[in-house]
Amino acid sequence: MLTNSLQSLDVAHHIHPITNLRRLERQGPIVIDRGQGIYVYDDEGREYIEAMAGLWSVGLGFGEQRLVDAATKQLEKLPYYHVFSQKAHAPSALLAAKLTELAPAGLEHVFFTNSGAEANDSVVKFVWYYNNAIGRPEKKKFLARDGGYHGITVAAGSLTGLQTNQKGFDLPLPFVRHLSRPHFYRAGLPGETEEAFTERLLKELEDTILAEGPETVAAFIGEPVMGAGGVLVPPKGYWAGVQEICRKYDVLVVADEVINGFGRLGTMFGCETLGIEPDILVCSKQITSSYQPLAAVLMKDFIYQAMADASEKLGVFGHGYTTGAHPVSTAVALENLAIIEERDLVARSKELGAYMHAGLAKFADHPHVGEIRGIGLIAAVELVADKATKAKFEPFGKVGLRFFDHAHEHGLIVRGIGDSIAFCPPMIITEAEIDEMLRRFKATLDDIT
Ligand code: PLP
Repeated sequence: MLTNSLQSLDVAHHIHPITNLRRLERQGPIVIDRGQGIYVYDDEGREYIEAMAGLWSVGLGFGEQRLVDAATKQLEKLPYYHVFSQKAHAPSALLAAKLTELAPAGLEHVFFTNSGAEANDSVVKFVWYYNNAIGRPEKKKFLARDGGYHGITVAAGSLTGLQTNQKGFDLPLPFVRHLSRPHFYRAGLPGETEEAFTERLLKELEDTILAEGPETVAAFIGEPVMGAGGVLVPPKGYWAGVQEICRKYDVLVVADEVINGFGRLGTMFGCETLGIEPDILVCSKQITSSYQPLAAVLMKDFIYQAMADASEKLGVFGHGYTTGAHPVSTAVALENLAIIEERDLVARSKELGAYMHAGLAKFADHPHVGEIRGIGLIAAVELVADKATKAKFEPFGKVGLRFFDHAHEHGLIVRGIGDSIAFCPPMIITEAEIDEMLRRFKATLDDIT
């Protein structure tokens, strides 16, 4: 690395998130300079297919001029205003209304934040505020899942069920109980059917609520399809069972759609694909194709009404962020959603997803491919040392990391999750580009196995 190169300045001064900082110092970062469509280019001009849409988020790809124009127009008209106290502005009011129109039935009220983690932190506070308001101060615990990802702030990081985000940080806080991850391939017992596996997980949920005391359990949070935990599609009947048990014990159901939302699974929201009727829904990422930071918490009317009553009693609803509901972010989101609808990208994502999964299925016989999973335009391929026994490579995660590094040499950006390789390309990808993405995947796989 040259002194004063971008790389050396970055390594000297910039602390990177979710990164081995010493490894970064040794290897230096890849400096991404520009993007177009499904491609990004580094500062030396090398091209990469962005098979992860950034961080599962750039739905419209890297060159959507209409989003740039929407941001510019809003910046010129009103670059910033807040929505505290009695203030409002057009883009956030219109977006709140639009989201309630697109979302599953009954989610009528919307709160905006800057990030998914802030949104999930807000959910924790809203649920506590709600239960305090209706005279149930004991009902405060959250149920989440091992393998779930809900962000890294103190409360959201406690809901997250991944050790990588908790080790060394004194998380999780004790208001969370983590249940088993719904991953039959890895967590099913020898000889157990998928139905029996689902029953076992549902029994664990009900037993946990009863052991903790239903009067202390406030909410269950889950991604319809887990993303960062490895693209885990739950077994049939799982979500229906979860909802039934939660309703029985008056436990709120929170769907974290930060990755799933806005077409990723081939439906507008993952809740439609999985048959979930949530009390609270969280979305972000593809809401603006991540051209601007934005997340939203949608909730049912009964929760809102209790919160509004409490705000009157207490004098204020004392929660909010300076740049939450930012006018530029909400204006970009409105344009982003308009494009998704005009181009029918939700249906297109379903078609492209089927095409991508058919392409990935050709790797099923590879001696080191254990499981290929996913739904819609999101997938993961789990690499194993031994296909028959499902034995993992030793040490676990090293092959995923090697794959990640080698993929760069083949002009491909994927994500290694343990030894699973995740795909979540922009929804504007074409069939020919999927073929090219899978060709680069094969070249990398051939190199490392
Ligand atoms: N929830 C889910 C399901 C996510 O995948 C993520 C991020 O990947 C988050 C929450 C946190 O979002 P953010 O990184 O914007 O805080």
